[in-house]
Amino acid sequence: VIEQGQPEHSVITTCAYCGVGCSFKAEMKGDQLVRMTPWKGGQANHGHACVKGRFAFGYATHKDRLTKPMIRDAIDQPWREVEWEEAIGFAARRLREVQQQHGTHSVGGITSSRCTNEETYLVQKLVRAALGTNNTDTCARVCHSPTGYGLKMTLGESAGTQDFDSVLQSDCILVIGANPTDAHPVFGSLLRKRLRQGAQLIVADPRHIDLLDTPHTAEPLHLPLRPGANVALVNALAHVIVTEGLEDKEFIAGRCSPEEYAAWREFIADPGHAPEVMSAVIGAPAERIRDAARLYAGAGNGAIYYGLGVTEHSQGSTTVMGIANLAMATGNIGRPGVGVNPLRGQNNVQGSCDMGSFPHELPGYQPVTDAAVRASFEQAWGVELHGEPGLRIPGMFDAAIEGRFKAMYVQGEDIAQSDPNTQHVEAALRSLDLLIVQDIFLNETAKFAHVILPGSTFLEKNGTFTNAERRINRVRKVMPPLAGKEDWQVTQELAQALGYPMHYEHPSEIMAEIASVTPSFAGVSYPRLEELGSIQWPCNDQHPSGMPVMHGDSFPIGLGRMVVTEFMPTSEKVSEAFPLLLTTGRILSQYNVGAQTRRTENNVWHGEDVLEIHPHDAAARGIQDGQPVTIASRTGNTVLRAEHSQRMQPGVVYTTFHFPHSGANVITTDNSDWATNCPEYKVTAVQVSGTSDR
Ligand code: SF4
Repeated sequence: VIEQGQPEHSVITTCAYCGVGCSFKAEMKGDQLVRMTPWKGGQANHGHACVKGRFAFGYATHKDRLTKPMIRDAIDQPWREVEWEEAIGFAARRLREVQQQHGTHSVGGITSSRCTNEETYLVQKLVRAALGTNNTDTCARVCHSPTGYGLKMTLGESAGTQDFDSVLQSDCILVIGANPTDAHPVFGSLLRKRLRQGAQLIVADPRHIDLLDTPHTAEPLHLPLRPGANVALVNALAHVIVTEGLEDKEFIAGRCSPEEYAAWREFIADPGHAPEVMSAVIGAPAERIRDAARLYAGAGNGAIYYGLGVTEHSQGSTTVMGIANLAMATGNIGRPGVGVNPLRGQNNVQGSCDMGSFPHELPGYQPVTDAAVRASFEQAWGVELHGEPGLRIPGMFDAAIEGRFKAMYVQGEDIAQSDPNTQHVEAALRSLDLLIVQDIFLNETAKFAHVILPGSTFLEKNGTFTNAERRINRVRKVMPPLAGKEDWQVTQELAQALGYPMHYEHPSEIMAEIASVTPSFAGVSYPRLEELGSIQWPCNDQHPSGMPVMHGDSFPIGLGRMVVTEFMPTSEKVSEAFPLLLTTGRILSQYNVGAQTRRTENNVWHGEDVLEIHPHDAAARGIQDGQPVTIASRTGNTVLRAEHSQRMQPGVVYTTFHFPHSGANVITTDNSDWATNCPEYKVTAVQVSGTSDR
C-alpha cells in the first residue's frame, strides 16, 4: 500500500525506469511506502533523481495490477482465474505438447529489460536448459542490440566505456541521437553541469533538443541531420579528421590493428566522404561538419554519448562502429573524460544483454557456437545445449506466421505495442498455439495470450539491475509481491513443472551461479555488492572492485578494430505520396509505452502523444496548431493532434509512443538494422493531412 505519512524506516533500492540507475531510499511506515527519496550514497546519482523515479511509483498498487493467474484455451474465450499451480502446470503441459507436435525449436522466450539480472538469467536458462532451444531474445533487440554488436566488433566488449562521472572531465561532448535531459535526466543534469563549466557541446540530431539551450555555456554546435544520415555524418567527421591530420597517430600505432586501420584510412580518405560532398545528404552545412570534427578531435578529452537515434536504423550497427572508429582515430579511449557511451534506455537493458538473452550468446556474451563455452554451461546446468543460434524476435514473428513457431513465453515486455509494424506483430501472435505473458498489467500483448502469470514490480523483489555504465546496483524488496510470488520464483516453478530442476532460495544464489559461469562477473556477489555499494563489471581477479573506465591499456580483443563503414541509404524514402520523414522519441514525464507512468495518479502523467511539425510544413498543408491530423505511411495510418514546433526542421515530423491510442507503431515499417534486426523506428516516410476524425 502506498500512502502519505511520516516514514519510520527505509530500504535502499534502485529506480526501475531508465538506464541511469538512480539509488533511492524507499521510505516506509509499517508496510506502507510513504515516499521515494533520492539517496546521496547512490554511486550513479549522488542524491539526484528525476520526476519519474521520485514520484511515478503509484502504478505499483494501481487497481489494474494483475494479482491472480489466468488461463484460457483460445484467445476468443473469457479468462478463468486459477491458482498458481494450475496456471504453471497448464503452461508447462502446453509447452511440451507444442514441442511434441511441432518440434523442439517451435517454442521460445523473451526476457525483459525491466526485470532483474537474476530473473533474466533464469528465463534464458529455462529456454535453453529446460526447453532445449536457443530461441531466446530480449527487448534490447528493439533498442540497443546494435550497440552490443558494434562495440564488440570494434572494441571487443558489448558495453559503454566510461562511468557517468567521467563526463566531468570531458572537454568536448558529442551527443548523437540522444536527448538526455528527457530520456536520462540525471545524467543530462550532470552533462549540463560540465557544459556550464565550459565544455564544448556538439549535438547531432534532427531536432533542436533542450541540451542546446543550456544556459551559461560556450556556443553549442548543432548538426540538424536528416533521419537516416548517421553513417554519412560519422564518415564525414572521420574524413575531416584523417585529411586534416587530426588523428592521434601514437594511439593508433599502439592500440589499433594496422591492417584494419590501413583499410579504414584508405576508405575514409576518399573525397566522396567530404562534408562538401555529403552535406546535402546529411542535412547540415559542410563548414559546420568540419568545425564539429575539429572541435572533437582537437579537444583534450573528447567524449561521445549516443542513444536510440543511432541504433534504431537500418544501419544502426554501422553507426555504432563508425562512432568507435572516431574515438580510436582520435585516441579518445581508455581514460576519464573520453570514450564511447551508449545511453541505455531501460533500467536493465545492459543487464538483460549481459545475462545471455540473445539467441547467439550465453551469459557474458559467450557464443553458443563455441563448444568449449557450451561445455562449461552444460556442466553447470546438467544438460546438453543446442549449438546453433536461435531465432531473434522478428524471426519468431515471421516463423509464427509461417507456422514454424507455435509457443512463446514473454516476461515483462509489451511486444504488441512496442514492436514495429503492429499489424505484422498481431498476426504473428494470433498464429501461436500458446502465448504465456508474465506481466504486472493486462497489456496489449495479453490480448493474444493463453496464460497470464502476474508479475512483480521492483518494489516487490530482491535482485540487481545493471545501468548504462555497467554498474550493478542492488534492488531490495520493499513490500511483499501483490500476487504472492517474485518473477524469478515464477520462472523457477515453470522450469520445475517442465521437469528441469531449479532450487534457488534467494536471488543471491542465482547471482552466485551467474558469477561461476560468467568471467566478467566472476567477482560479483551480494556480500561484495553490500561492501562496495555497487560494482561496474568486469569484476574478477584482475579487477576485484570493478572497472569504471574500460580499455585503458588494451582491448579485450587485443588491438582495436577499425571497421569500414559504407553508407547505405535506407530504403525508406520520401516520395510525392509520402513527402515527410517521421522520427520518434520520448518526453521527460512519460516512459516508453507508458504502462507505469500512465498509471500513476498525478496530473503530471496525463497527456497525449502529439505530432510535432515545423510551422512551414503545417502552413503548406493548412494545419492549425492543435488540430487533429492523419499521419499515413506505407504501412498504416493514425490520427494525432498537431503541434507547431520550431524544434523541427522542415520536412521532418516527430512523435512519441507513450499512449496506446497514438498508433506510432502502426505506421513504422519492417526495416531493420542489417546486423541485428533492430527496427528502424527513426525513419518513416509519411504524409500528414488535416482531419476532424479523432
Ligand atoms: Fe529513474 Fe532515470 Fe530518473 Fe534516475 S534519471 S530517477 S534512473 S528515470
